[in-house]
Amino acid sequence: MTAIPDNWHLLHSAADIAQRVAQMGAQIRRDYAGKPLTLLVVLKGSFIFAADLCRAIDLPMHIEFMALRSYGDETTTSGVVQITLDMRFPVENTHVLIVEDIVDTGLTLDYLRQNLVLRRPASLRLVSLLHKPSRTVRPVTIDYLGFEVPDHFIIGYGLDNAGQCRNLPDIGYIAP
Ligand code: 5GP
Repeated sequence: MTAIPDNWHLLHSAADIAQRVAQMGAQIRRDYAGKPLTLLVVLKGSFIFAADLCRAIDLPMHIEFMALRSYGDETTTSGVVQITLDMRFPVENTHVLIVEDIVDTGLTLDYLRQNLVLRRPASLRLVSLLHKPSRTVRPVTIDYLGFEVPDHFIIGYGLDNAGQCRNLPDIGYIAP
């Protein structure tokens, strides 16, 4: 049973999300047809999004995982990022598409992009399910975006609330 906080409000239902993910998958399929594609899934928050998205992209692909830890308190990031799980697959000369759950300040993605560029991929792009534009500290180009969300703490569909609620099928926010 998912412990949904009382002050949780729906933003996007599971049906909305499924429709948007199908659109994004179709677009990515068109853009990457004939190219060696690696989906790089950033754990943990994007695991559900990535599972749905990869099945909406009807192309051969490698799927790799990285885990990043950004230091900060429970709801904000400091921009100091540590790689806690790295991929083994050499991405040199492959087309890497980073799969992220949410771009908030942009600090984590900025760090990851700088790190990945050194591995000489043929191209490096970003697909993010969510973006909180009002919180930008480091602007990051999001090549494929699911939804813009307001400046609230978002949970569900992989995004956690202190480790819980990732299995909530919808996306919502916790009212301040
Ligand atoms: P950044 O601020 O560096 O863009 O975001 C870093 C990470 O913080 C995101 O990948 C995500 O895991 C987490 N994060 C940012 N905003 C939220 C949010 O509203 N809800 C949840 N659950 N995690 C968030």
